Amino acid sequence: MRRPLVVGNWKMHGNKQSVADLINGLLNQWQGVHLAEVAVCAPYVHLGQVARQLAESNITMGAQDVSQYENGAHTGDISAAMLSDMFCHYVIVGHSERRQFNKESNDVVASKFVAVQEAKLTPILCVGESLEQRDGGTTLAIIEQQLQAVLDRVEPAALNHAVVAYEPVWAIGTGRTATPEQAEEVHAFIRQQLGKECINTRLVYGGSVKAGNAAELFQQENIDGGLVGRASLDADEFIKICRAAE
Ligand code: PEP
Repeated sequence: MRRPLVVGNWKMHGNKQSVADLINGLLNQWQGVHLAEVAVCAPYVHLGQVARQLAESNITMGAQDVSQYENGAHTGDISAAMLSDMFCHYVIVGHSERRQFNKESNDVVASKFVAVQEAKLTPILCVGESLEQRDGGTTLAIIEQQLQAVLDRVEPAALNHAVVAYEPVWAIGTGRTATPEQAEEVHAFIRQQLGKECINTRLVYGGSVKAGNAAELFQQENIDGGLVGRASLDADEFIKICRAAE
């Protein structure tokens, strides 16, 4: 039995005041969310504040990216050990915005995955196809390559200590959501690719998840929760999504 997981990805939004308001909004409505695990991935500079505000709660915290390197002359980068020091539990690796705008290859993403696990944190590995790839019929081949890059670097069982987020690029921040059937098809494929050794790996869907569409997505057999961008910036909306995962 995999515990449902809902993760908010705040991206590059917010300031000290809006972060305080958002977390207070979540904590005020928190009663009743017990079955699902909930995490928020904040910008680096807000991690300290978020950790302090969440200290008495069971909402966990994550980061949105990490360096592939352990330490050294990498000005401006943040290591997995630093994130561990800041009480992060999760780290997103391979988000499509980083693959696209920062030219992160499957190899770099795999190195980040390894760095996160070596620091005893849990990677949230994002995979997903572009609209062009979906229209060209290569969705499953793309997902397979993205997964394989990681499986080339770690034992399959290591994926039990990771989350895989299927995020079709054409659905991220566009308001266009994959249908539950489209999402389930890819989730089932990922589950099959991971095999029996990875029975505990949670597979979450991301791409314009909202309060209005979360329940039907989360009801699918192989969807264990969601990775939520825009809707995670609104406490009321995000709590509704968390409840839909219960
Ligand atoms: C994301 O950033 O991972 C995401 C899924 O964003 P949105 O929910 O806004 O599509």
